[in-house]
Amino acid sequence: MKIVAASKILKANDALAAENRQKLTEAGVLAVNWMGSPGSGKTTLLEALARYWQGRRKVAVIQGDLAGSLDAQRMEALGLPVVQINTDGACHLDANMVAQALAGLRLEPGRLLMIENVGNLVCTANFDLGEHLRLVVLSVPEGDDKVVKYPAIFQTIHALVISKTDLLEQVKFHIDRVGTDLHRLNPRAPLFCVSALQEKGIAELAEWIEAHQGG
Ligand code: MG
Ligand code: ZN
Repeated sequence: MKIVAASKILKANDALAAENRQKLTEAGVLAVNWMGSPGSGKTTLLEALARYWQGRRKVAVIQGDLAGSLDAQRMEALGLPVVQINTDGACHLDANMVAQALAGLRLEPGRLLMIENVGNLVCTANFDLGEHLRLVVLSVPEGDDKVVKYPAIFQTIHALVISKTDLLEQVKFHIDRVGTDLHRLNPRAPLFCVSALQEKGIAELAEWIEAHQGG
């Protein structure tokens, strides 16, 4: 019997992720790994950001899903180059999948690459994809206790985006509590509050992402 330790798999992943990051950096592409639960509003937020960047910035998308291409079709409808990764049941993207997807994209200086990970707050935390920025989207209906319950992922992120803030009147959700919990684990990560539906907070988030290009 051959047993492969998880730590070895992660080490191999990290090496490949470093290659991806170098390739992207040399090409002048800023890559963002978007994580969050299924239904947290990742794709809807990416649509809103893509609309904001239309005519301003070149954007490309890698979509990770267990099956199908529903989200990729939504991004394609906005005229963006998209590569869909079907993970065949795997609950996260890894650096090898992203390396293959990168081969199908034109990497031009100034391009922003949005990588939508599989909806999952657990193991997506462990896999570096070679991105420059790691963000979690946490939606108001999911509840304000998620930072405490899933600390691993929140420790590794560069920013937290609270989405669906248009539901704050219907749902008991304390933004302050999330902010306090986040900063206990990850003191420097900023918190953004957005409503893609009402197009609130989109410009602020977009500009924060853009500011990391070339940095
Ligand atoms: Mg999605
Ligand atoms: Zn997984």
